[in-house]
Amino acid sequence: MPSKRVAILGSTGSIGVNTLDVIRAHPERFQVVALTAGKQVDLLAQQCLEFAPKMAVVSDAAGAARLSATLAQAGIATQVLYGPEALVTAVTESSCDTVMAAIVGAAGLVPALAAAKAGKRVLLANKEALVMSGDLFMKAMQEGGGELLPIDSEHNAIFQCLPQRFTDEPADHLGVEELWLTASGGPFRDTPLAQLSAITPEQACAHPNWVMGRKISVDSATMMNKGLEVIEAFWLFGLPLEKIKVLIHPQSVVHSMVRYRDGSVIAQMGQPDMRTPIAYGLAWPERIHSGVSPLNLPQLAALSFAQPDLARFPCLALAFAAANAGGTAPTILNAANEIAVAAFLDQGMPYLRIPEVVEKTLSRMAAAPASSIELILEVDAQARAVTKDLVKAMGI
Ligand code: NAD
Ligand code: MG
Repeated sequence: MPSKRVAILGSTGSIGVNTLDVIRAHPERFQVVALTAGKQVDLLAQQCLEFAPKMAVVSDAAGAARLSATLAQAGIATQVLYGPEALVTAVTESSCDTVMAAIVGAAGLVPALAAAKAGKRVLLANKEALVMSGDLFMKAMQEGGGELLPIDSEHNAIFQCLPQRFTDEPADHLGVEELWLTASGGPFRDTPLAQLSAITPEQACAHPNWVMGRKISVDSATMMNKGLEVIEAFWLFGLPLEKIKVLIHPQSVVHSMVRYRDGSVIAQMGQPDMRTPIAYGLAWPERIHSGVSPLNLPQLAALSFAQPDLARFPCLALAFAAANAGGTAPTILNAANEIAVAAFLDQGMPYLRIPEVVEKTLSRMAAAPASSIELILEVDAQARAVTKDLVKAMGI
């Protein structure tokens, strides 16, 4: 069996490291041909020493010089590049057939789209790509002729619960009535509302069940993450928004469900460990060992489900509103949220200001049809500027 040639965009992040962990256990199946990172040059250097990819990409020239020097000293002939265009080169010129798209935020959009256009198997962790440009992205996948495998655990679960590849047939032809995305409710599911104003970044990043990057951890706490995932599901599975539901499920064992018209509900279950969807995407349609321990059902006291409280999670309501507005509204939502979360994490902006600045940004900008990537990127930049002004006006 010829091995798959894998490029990992964002190899030093939480998803990237887990992807390498799965690959490490299957050297006969996978060959790493490209690795990319933003600023974590030391970790990327370590990964290059272990996997000797054809190409490695970092954000800037200084990082590239440092990485080149380390690799040259060790006799590793990896080509080192830097900058946003080099992320696209890592997809198109590394001879990869599989791309793990795991850069966080809008920065991951252009290289993920390049993978779609080039007909690769795209393992999509970067949900922002679909939130911002779902229509264009799905069309690019279709034109490129590659395979799209969702890595986000909920969407991976739904993919597994559908009877055949979702791209072959619209979901409603398959008897699908509703998709139920589960959400743990994050660390503040039961925190008295009055205490939310004093939440610190450390508290917000301490997710009860999943270990993730800082941005998505905050998004899980506000439930903006679930809102982005509703939009992601809309594009991936082609069901109307009103058929995509969110359920609070604190144990994070049921990763999502599909309800069919005959009364059946099919759920995918497992440990909350991203190596399961990553291994699934890498090996699909086969199943391989992921390193995840088996689920011990008798040990689980109970599985519970509840409706989300939109007053507690205003970001979820904002995401539904942006999804319904369509066009560039989700891009504005996503950009405003990225800036707001960064201001909370790095500048001491209060936690409860996150929904406030996102809402204000949405109300200040009119949504337009998301007709081209250039327009989407322009709206993204404008929304960031508006949110930054709002944050500044708060004296932060
Ligand atoms: P992370 O912050 O841990 O890692 C992000 C990666 O992207 C790092 O390698 C970083 O160096 C790179 N990066 C960041 N900014 C960059 C830029 N401007 N240019 C180039 N590279 C850049 O994030 P993560 O938790 O691994 O999440 C990655 C993506 O996967 C996100 O879109 C997230 O929503 C999605 N996702 C993550 C999880 C999870 O469990 N971590 C689950 C589902 C979906
Ligand atoms: Mg998810």
